[in-house]
Amino acid sequence: MRATSLLRTILNLKHTKVVGFEFSDCGLVVDVAPTTRLPRCAGCGPRCRRCYDARSRQWRHQDFAGMEVVVRYTIRRVECDRCGVSTELVPWAEPGAWLTRDFEDTVALFAAEELVARCAHAWPPTKPCGGTRFWPRPPS
Ligand SMILES: [Zn+2]
Repeated sequence: MRATSLLRTILNLKHTKVVGFEFSDCGLVVDVAPTTRLPRCAGCGPRCRRCYDARSRQWRHQDFAGMEVVVRYTIRRVECDRCGVSTELVPWAEPGAWLTRDFEDTVALFAAEELVARCAHAWPPTKPCGGTRFWPRPPS
C-alpha cells in the first residue's frame, strides 16, 4: 500500500484524493485534491468551467499520532454566473472555513460534552426518578 493511499484511509476525507505529503515543524502537511475535475461554486453549488485564479490554502485537520495535521490544496476561484467570482467548493470543509469538517465536528462534540458536564455540576440532581437522575431546569 502506498503512503498516499494509507493517508487517504487514515484521514477519511470523502471525495478527496491524497496527492502528496511532507513533514513540517508543526506536524504533517497533506496535499489533497477533490476527486471531481470541474470545480463547483461554493456560493450556490453548480459546476463552473471558468477559473479566475488559484492560491494555496491550508485547513486544520484532526491530530494523528500526536502530530498536528494540516490539509493543503491550491483552491481555485471560479467565475460563477450567479455569484460572480467565488471560491470553489471543497468536499472536506465548509465554504470559507479554515478547519476541516471532521475537526469542526470533534470540536462541537467536545463543546457539547463540556456543556453537559458544566450543567450537571452547576445543577446537581435533586432526586432520583425511577433509577434515572433528574435535573431541574436552569434558572432563567
Ligand atoms: Zn455561485
